[in-house]
Amino acid sequence: MRRETVPEETAGFARRSLRLMAGARFEMALLCLLLLTAGAVIWQKPLLERTIHYTPPGVASATRTLFADNDNGGKSTVWSTGNMSWACDLRAGNAYPYCGYELFTDGNKGTHGLNLSNMRSFAMTLMYKGSATSFRVHLKNFDPRYSTMADIESPKFLRVEADTTPGKLQHIEFVPTDFGVADWWLRKRKLPPEFGRPQFDNITSFNIETGSEAPLGPHSFEIRDVTIKTAILSDAQWYSLLLGIWIVMIVIYLGYRVGNLRRAQAERLALEAMALREAQEAARRDHLTGIFNRRGLMERFNELAGHRRGAFSLAVILLDLDHFKALNDTHGHDQGDRVLSAVAQVINGNVRSGDLAARWGGEEFIVVCADVDRRAAQKIAEKIRERVEAFDFGIPGGVTASLGVNWSNMAEPDLTQLVAQADIALYAAKAEGRNRVKLRGVATPKAA
Ligand code: GH3
Ligand code: MG
Ligand code: MG
Repeated sequence: MRRETVPEETAGFARRSLRLMAGARFEMALLCLLLLTAGAVIWQKPLLERTIHYTPPGVASATRTLFADNDNGGKSTVWSTGNMSWACDLRAGNAYPYCGYELFTDGNKGTHGLNLSNMRSFAMTLMYKGSATSFRVHLKNFDPRYSTMADIESPKFLRVEADTTPGKLQHIEFVPTDFGVADWWLRKRKLPPEFGRPQFDNITSFNIETGSEAPLGPHSFEIRDVTIKTAILSDAQWYSLLLGIWIVMIVIYLGYRVGNLRRAQAERLALEAMALREAQEAARRDHLTGIFNRRGLMERFNELAGHRRGAFSLAVILLDLDHFKALNDTHGHDQGDRVLSAVAQVINGNVRSGDLAARWGGEEFIVVCADVDRRAAQKIAEKIRERVEAFDFGIPGGVTASLGVNWSNMAEPDLTQLVAQADIALYAAKAEGRNRVKLRGVATPKAA
């Protein structure tokens, strides 16, 4: 037994948890976004980092050159010993003898290099042999505002100088702040100060060369590996992006909430209006028979009379069931109720759509017909009387009614007065033996 109930409880708990989670969609989305943001901050470094590798086999097809001071009036010679290796013999001639190796990052000495604005490090592994105590690395930034294709010295020379460890494999890593703009380059260019700052947005090549005051004689370099670590976005860009995502999400959520609130409010107002209409309609209806009650009829009558200009003909028919008290006493109150409902239907079925029919109270009904003459009013009342008499209410001997008709033709008819007059006619019908129609009417001449 116990073995069966435990999985059931677990399933129930899981179902309840799922329901809870589905109901808390926004909270779940918020939690996810928070976790994502935390992840984006914690793992910012690996997420954004891009590594660019240069190895001797990898640069086989890249554009690279060797250079020495012999271009500049010196006598030094340089020669290749591999894809990323070279050797040179520095000789007296130039005031500062030098030799080096340059690798172009865009492959064909073009103008579209690497954007290293977010560079994190520039690392290299090399083997130097010779008597120099330092070597230099230059990153060259091409900017059309001061660089031209024709002049290989026009890209900005970003320079760093490091100590050698002759005969020993050396791993060295530079960060962007280690690089400064080469003095000779600045002096030669005579640029406005803003161009004098380090700039890494378009590094078209880098070179490695002998350092300041390199002694004359043989030098050899063997670069095993160059690794540049950069980021696709700066820290500021990354945090701005995260902030932007949060702002967008919050704006979307607020829009969604405001939309929901508006919809809910519109729905509530519509429901309230409907409930009010229903309550008003219910207040106008007789709950037993479903037709208008006295209040409903009076409102409709006022509407009808309000639309009329000048005198118009109007018939008020009052109907009272005969000996209804005796019917109740004999057949019971419920049966009496059923008879009242049936009479209401009979009346409703025998008036025109524009006529007003209502339960006036107790076992009395009223019909108001506009635009009928005296004879037509009497005919309508007679028809109703006949139909009530003929109707099968399931009462032995049937049910009859007496009707009083009051016909008028006046400009602003007063319902209470008209009913009082109809009541006099009804009283006469009762007095004359019931189950009949009596007419009473006044024709008031049109007001001048
Ligand atoms: P008359 O022919 O003179 O009109 O006699 P009557 O018995 O119809 O008149 P009376 O005014 O003496 O009695 C009216 C009766 O109608 C009394 C009352 O119990 C009954 N009645 C009034 N309202 C209702 C109702 O809602 N349901 C039922 N079953 N009877 C009602
Ligand atoms: Mg009565
Ligand atoms: Mg009666």
